[in-house]
Amino acid sequence: MIYLDYQATTPVAPEVARAMEPWIAEKFANPHSPSRWGREAAAAIDVARGQVERAIGLTGGSLAFTGSATEALNWALKGSMERAQPGRNRIITIATEHPAVLDSCEWLAGQGVDLTVLPVAEDGLLDLELLDGELDERVALVAVMLVNNEIGVIQPIDQVAAAAHAVGALMLCDAVQALGRVPIPKGPDLIAVSAHKIHGPKGIGALWMRQGAEPAPLIHGGGQERGLRSGTLSAALCVGFGAAAKLASEAQEADRAHIEKLWTAALDALGSGWTINGSMAQRYHGNLNIRREGVDAARLISDLRDFAFSLGSACASGSGRPSHVLRALGLTAQQARSSIRIGFGRYTTQDELVDALMRIDAAGDGQESVAA
Ligand code: PLP
Repeated sequence: MIYLDYQATTPVAPEVARAMEPWIAEKFANPHSPSRWGREAAAAIDVARGQVERAIGLTGGSLAFTGSATEALNWALKGSMERAQPGRNRIITIATEHPAVLDSCEWLAGQGVDLTVLPVAEDGLLDLELLDGELDERVALVAVMLVNNEIGVIQPIDQVAAAAHAVGALMLCDAVQALGRVPIPKGPDLIAVSAHKIHGPKGIGALWMRQGAEPAPLIHGGGQERGLRSGTLSAALCVGFGAAAKLASEAQEADRAHIEKLWTAALDALGSGWTINGSMAQRYHGNLNIRREGVDAARLISDLRDFAFSLGSACASGSGRPSHVLRALGLTAQQARSSIRIGFGRYTTQDELVDALMRIDAAGDGQESVAA
């Protein structure tokens, strides 16, 4: 199998698997117990916490582990609205956010929160003037992601955070697709990340919180994570996340150079009928979201079974609905259904990427000749 679905998830790095192994096979103690073994697990978790914090690279805040980035985003949104000052009952977000943000916002709207979902331009980017026009003293939180999971476009997060702060609102950034790939801007008050997008294990995410911006807890219980997020932590998952974050920091330059080489090769190999969805200028280059007139993307995927790639997004792939992100760019439902997402990264070779693109192009030609 040639794996080209790096936005859905990434292969676990061998270094990560090795770091986790003793914590799965032998070291089972509860990190919240006072025994020597419990304290050893707690110490390993603290090391991992520091590694993830350093990969995020911001100071003046703290990090709590969660079960996923989905949980971190739910917590940030719901817990911030619970703690919002009186008179601040608005959330502003954008139409291309991950469902973890959009669906949580919709849920909050059902509870009486005033929700504004801003459109994006044809290139997938937020118009900052539009945001400025919407911001006022009633806004509690502005939620905008850094790198889009479907089309890879990079939003101007520092400007969004500055605009939010100017009216006294907090800024939440979903940096799941950005961690280890593009620098995390200094502006956000809350940042959600996930281990499995950076060659770590699934089932663990984290929320970085600027001091004073900690949301009210979403999950209540034993008071772990300083009373902010209850539940026994898995030392294995935390250690795996930490090892992946350390590796991402150390390999950042090499990963970036590798991605640039692959991106250039991919553009050279791409057949002429394909159009790239989303901004070319503000984009993470490990994401190639492309469409071709007349192609049935779902059929392309089932015809090319030895490649793993996606429709607009992994979530949209399962549902049969055309991607809300591609629709937000102004693409027709048909154009969205003719779009595929090819995601590559650290372990992708140039030969396999070029080979896959040529086979995808040929399969597109095949569909056209059948239709003709
Ligand atoms: N946000 C973005 C941009 C994502 O790509 C994903 C994963 O698909 C998530 C949030 C959710 O992350 P997790 O799988 O850790 O819940």
